Amino acid sequence: TRDLASADPAIQAAVSEESRRQADGIELIASENIVSRAVMEAQGTCLTNKYAEGYPGRRYYGGCEFADQAEALAIERARELFGCSFVNVQPHSGAQANGAVMLALLQPGDTILGMSLDAGGHLTHGARPAQSGKWFNAVQYGVSPETQRIDYDAVEALAVECQPKMIIAGGSAIPREIDFARFRTIADRVGAYLMVDMAHIAGLVATGAHPSPLPHADVVTTTTHKTLRGPRGGMILSNDMELGKKINSAVFPGLQGGPLMHVIAAKAVALGEALQPAFGTYIDQVVSNARALAEVMVERGCDIVTGGTDTHLMLVDLRPRGLKGNQVEQALERAGITCNKNGIPFDPEKPAITSGIRLGTPAGTTRGFGVEEFRLVGHLISDVLDALQANPEGDEQVEAKVREQVQALCARFPLYR
Ligand code: PLP
Repeated sequence: TRDLASADPAIQAAVSEESRRQADGIELIASENIVSRAVMEAQGTCLTNKYAEGYPGRRYYGGCEFADQAEALAIERARELFGCSFVNVQPHSGAQANGAVMLALLQPGDTILGMSLDAGGHLTHGARPAQSGKWFNAVQYGVSPETQRIDYDAVEALAVECQPKMIIAGGSAIPREIDFARFRTIADRVGAYLMVDMAHIAGLVATGAHPSPLPHADVVTTTTHKTLRGPRGGMILSNDMELGKKINSAVFPGLQGGPLMHVIAAKAVALGEALQPAFGTYIDQVVSNARALAEVMVERGCDIVTGGTDTHLMLVDLRPRGLKGNQVEQALERAGITCNKNGIPFDPEKPAITSGIRLGTPAGTTRGFGVEEFRLVGHLISDVLDALQANPEGDEQVEAKVREQVQALCARFPLYR
């Protein structure tokens, strides 16, 4: 019955400090967002106590009446939002969602064709250290050295050569629109399943700011916590009910046990929010803000991979300034701006160093930043980069001055008012 502060002051302190960090700093990690109070509240409820193995109406435990209500609502809202017939809202994460699809449709040793990590794909799409790379014959496609965009002809040639059972489209650092229809044509040519992982762009797909993969893919996976602005978690969607049955069995009992019912309730809340017109306005602003930030980065001497962005994220190529991703990530962190170092296509540096950073606008836009604020953010970042160019250790005074400006900007757009 004791509250967290008195029951566990050490954890309360970590939570308070994190809360302060989020409030006072500018969050540019492209895969992060800031959930509403309602989403947070749903996740912190007594639904965490409930075992509900199975699916609504078909559970392996008693007392699931209200868990059923929450999960049915989540499913119904996701169907409406994405215009599809099948949804599974139980995957604990994006990686679990991808793993479940592979468990449903593949056998160990099958060939899969996914985008390589260094070109912008995700670990779960067949990268060597991941389960998908270990248990399958994972062939990887990349981007064109000229355009830095997906070279669909090259993907097609690879597919014809390796005859994959599944092709995976989507990734974690793709700044440009993905041509799902073209991927469908390639998959059809070789008789492969097409799985689209829309984790990063789910919010854009929900509002129509990015074309939907659902008319083209056999199965679509996503996380719920990125542009979709829900709790951390995963989801699987399809228009093929037969395939859906296999996927349900793969999620439970194939891969997971009891669903996280408190998270599913929070997913339902976030999906309900995404169905509101205000979410469309939000996503449009996310995209405009990304363009504005990319413009300033270029004005101030960086390159942007592919020359710009169609989405919520960009990859900044630091080579024109002679800087490295790890060094910049650390300097920006000292100045109150959080982002991640990220390899650029054909990066000459190791993954722990990199020549780039990945920047995204979903979190800043949620707290209310518009184009003007993101232009300022671009200049603040660039001030830190100027100082780093002059002194690779960073300039304490410049970083302190930027940190002050960051805090002033954050104070104008408080979190959880
Ligand atoms: N798929 C893509 C495209 C991602 O970017 C990510 C996360 O970064 C994932 C899957 C994995 O999601 P999670 O971290 O929830 O396992």
